[in-house]
Amino acid sequence: LATHYLNRIEASNLNAFMHVDRSLTLAQANAADQALAAGDATALTGIPIAHKDIFVTRDWRSTAGSRMLENYVSPFDATVVTLFKQAGMVTLGKLNCDEFAMGSGNENSYFGAVKNPWDTSAVPGGSSGGSAAAIAARLTPAATGTDTGGSIRQPAAFCGVTGIKPTYGSVSRYGMIAFASSLDQGGPMAQTAEDCSWLLNAMTGFDEKDSTSVQRDKEDFSRQLNQDIKGLRIGVPREFFGTGLASDVEQAVRTALAEYEKLGATLVDISLPKTELSIPVYYIIAPAEASSNLSRFDGVRYGHRAADYKDLNDMYRKTRTEGFGDEVKRRILTGAYVLSHGYYDAYYLQAQKIRRLIAQDFQAAFAQCDVIMGPVAPTVAWDLGDKSDDPVANYLADIFTLSTSLAGLPGMSIPCGFGQGEKNSNRPVGLQIIGNYFSEAKLLNVAHQYQ
Ligand code: GLN
Repeated sequence: LATHYLNRIEASNLNAFMHVDRSLTLAQANAADQALAAGDATALTGIPIAHKDIFVTRDWRSTAGSRMLENYVSPFDATVVTLFKQAGMVTLGKLNCDEFAMGSGNENSYFGAVKNPWDTSAVPGGSSGGSAAAIAARLTPAATGTDTGGSIRQPAAFCGVTGIKPTYGSVSRYGMIAFASSLDQGGPMAQTAEDCSWLLNAMTGFDEKDSTSVQRDKEDFSRQLNQDIKGLRIGVPREFFGTGLASDVEQAVRTALAEYEKLGATLVDISLPKTELSIPVYYIIAPAEASSNLSRFDGVRYGHRAADYKDLNDMYRKTRTEGFGDEVKRRILTGAYVLSHGYYDAYYLQAQKIRRLIAQDFQAAFAQCDVIMGPVAPTVAWDLGDKSDDPVANYLADIFTLSTSLAGLPGMSIPCGFGQGEKNSNRPVGLQIIGNYFSEAKLLNVAHQYQ
């Protein structure tokens, strides 16, 4: 298996994989073979996986898609990386992503954009674009992703694969290079909900090294995939089907909803009135936290340092000017601004209050339904270059994924057909399924019944 995928990676030109080391991977594969022969295997032993380059690894460089960390090698593995190793999985390498996971098209990577395997003139989505493209192109059967405001769900949708962002706190953030700590959450991406369930089994659990890790009994998600969904109440939020939703996406999503009705579910009209506000709220809170998290990249502790400088301040300035790309700088500036004296109350505090109201809207909705369904993104994947100079256009495209993240709820994306976009090429559409806290087993089962 490892050789098969390594060969496919070598032959691919999507720019999805960043760091591959054949001998390291084959050594892991040999160890897996031995475990299998010794009868000492888990369900995942020998199955290849690749990690978004946001998860630090001792054996591969960890760049977060940034020049700042171009040659950075971590002295330890992220908890998630360790858990998959312990389960016997074989690491194929590291996957391209938007710089520090900031983006919706994977065009913000210092190491170049990733191509969508369905149509190589399209973006794969972001920020986990390398993960989604690699799975869609069969370069790996499984990958990790991270989702701060949609970065697992949206690239999964754009590449026609399945991904789940678990409830905030269920997957350890230790060793996940931080973007916005109150939102960041790792999760699995694969072909199907069933595959994701096996990955999530290995990935979740309390980690004392992550202060927001949740203490709960471990669940077996794969064992809960055979529940009948007759009588399931599916909330369909009005605000997810308003203006701005492309008709091809709407059609694919409505067809999937009709399929669910055939499986015995009922559709309930619900409202998530603050959906639109999730954009300004997220784009205040996430940059605020990013500006704080990214202050550690100062040329002293990690990664890049400018070659020539006059004094300490000059070293900081030059290092950060050279090391960060435009979008990261934009976020740092925005974040520093909304946190500064005199603006904190007007922006940051207001955003935190509305964040709470957004979470309350979801709770009101879950009084009427078991899960919520709608589109993941307003359109299919756009063309490479189309939005790369327009940050606001990128931000607006996040409208349907941000509120779930702000509320800390689990959400997933499953493929539900194709749209033509404006380009007349078939591009995948994702169906989003959102559940209440810790309802991952339910979401995966609901997805599995459709798949
Ligand atoms: N597109 C959003 C952003 O740019 C979300 C990214 C993410 O979830 N990491 O911030």
